[in-house]
Amino acid sequence: MSSTESPLLEVQDLKTYFFVEEGILKAVDGVSFTVNQNETLGLIGESGSGKSVTAASVMRIVSSPGKLVEGQILLHSDEEIIDLAQLNPSGSEIRSIRGKEISMVFQEPMTSLSPVHTIGNQIRESILLHRTNDREEAQEITLDMLDRVGIANPAQRINAYPHQLSGGMRQRVMIAMALSCHPRLLIADEPTTALDVTVQAQILDLIKELQAQFQMAVLYITHDLGVIAETCHRVAVMYLGRIVELGSVRDIFYRPLHPYTALLLKSRPRMTQGASERLESIEGNVPVPLDPPLECGFHGRCPEAIKGVCDMRVPELIEWEEGHWVRCFLYEKSG
Ligand code: SF4
Repeated sequence: MSSTESPLLEVQDLKTYFFVEEGILKAVDGVSFTVNQNETLGLIGESGSGKSVTAASVMRIVSSPGKLVEGQILLHSDEEIIDLAQLNPSGSEIRSIRGKEISMVFQEPMTSLSPVHTIGNQIRESILLHRTNDREEAQEITLDMLDRVGIANPAQRINAYPHQLSGGMRQRVMIAMALSCHPRLLIADEPTTALDVTVQAQILDLIKELQAQFQMAVLYITHDLGVIAETCHRVAVMYLGRIVELGSVRDIFYRPLHPYTALLLKSRPRMTQGASERLESIEGNVPVPLDPPLECGFHGRCPEAIKGVCDMRVPELIEWEEGHWVRCFLYEKSG
């Protein structure tokens, strides 16, 4: 795996809030990260950490009562830098970027595939929208994409409806559809969670293979550290709407700084673990970020919390070592 250092997507101080009756739910509260060209960045966290809302914000598909209230989402190209945060979420400009420049695959393909259209029709539609007006050429590209994602007998399968395929095959179709217009960034939101382990590994391999073929960057959203280790160059750990640690996969796995990251690593199943051995789990749940107080969001679950400090202020995200960032009062640089 290799990546270049030129930025493709730069997210700066992104805030996406949900305005509900009970108050303001700060699902994403000041998130910043960069995805470089050809790079795979993992966004990891438990459910409720804000990782999927971050992805939805980049795609500009956050639905009401959610609103992107602040921040920049800069998409770089040779010619220009577009701030996606400034675009009308239902306007033509973002629609021409979605599917063409940035594509997304989801955990459950049935939520994005139409049950009443053949898979061929659905892939073709996206090609006709973004790539060519020529129906014959669109048909050829569709067959080629089905072949590339490993669907046997594409000429026959092109006429299948989603319900006639297995979960793994449907995910392959989703990937074919997402990549049919050669996006520069693929956002993969838990694409393998619903699949069994063998199919999971096949899909991860497939994404890696296609990433190299299409020279694209991938933003991988997952709660699974195994997936991160398998696929990513760098990883951002999210907790309660904020990034709490960011670094290379090596930094995060071998030298985790944040207590939350350390606990996540401890709680993951190991190959060497005996079947009867219990997994350590992190006590408590991610709180709901409804009008969150000014404190470290993890202090209620943190074994290292400092009384009078962690419950009084929000720590800043600082670069502790080159390229290794952490948000925790245990790492405050003096001066
Ligand atoms: Fe724990 Fe305090 Fe660090 Fe938060 S800031 S993770 S509570 S030590």
